[in-house]
Amino acid sequence: MSRQRNAIDDIVPSAAPVAEKVCCSACDAVCCRLTVVVMPDDPVPRQYVERSVQGLDVMARDSDGWCVAVDHSRMCCSIYELRPAICRKFAMGSSYCREEREKYRTRFDQGIELHLL
Ligand code: SF4
Ligand code: SF4
Repeated sequence: MSRQRNAIDDIVPSAAPVAEKVCCSACDAVCCRLTVVVMPDDPVPRQYVERSVQGLDVMARDSDGWCVAVDHSRMCCSIYELRPAICRKFAMGSSYCREEREKYRTRFDQGIELHLL
């Protein structure tokens, strides 16, 4: 790949047109702060998985709230080929993507500390 591959880039295309300026390569991997449930047949290395208080297998997150699989030097997924199915379905430019980006931007702009979502 010649270009930087971000966390949930190049996945199932959204049915809706991608909003202008919404691009994984210009994003702080905002969706990688969400709870990511890991299914039994997901090929995620188990050291990245933890058990939630609800008893679900989820991607572990670091103290700043990002999935532990985020490569912070490039803000992209370090296990891209092994990422969970739910990550593959999260569409760049979808309404969910834009909502999370807006929530993140608002909190960041207001100087509100970013805790786990
Ligand atoms: S929030 Fe949207 S733009 Fe940002 S990394 Fe995730 S899919 Fe890409
Ligand atoms: S597994 Fe990869 S794409 Fe999924 S949340 Fe973690 S860093 Fe993001």
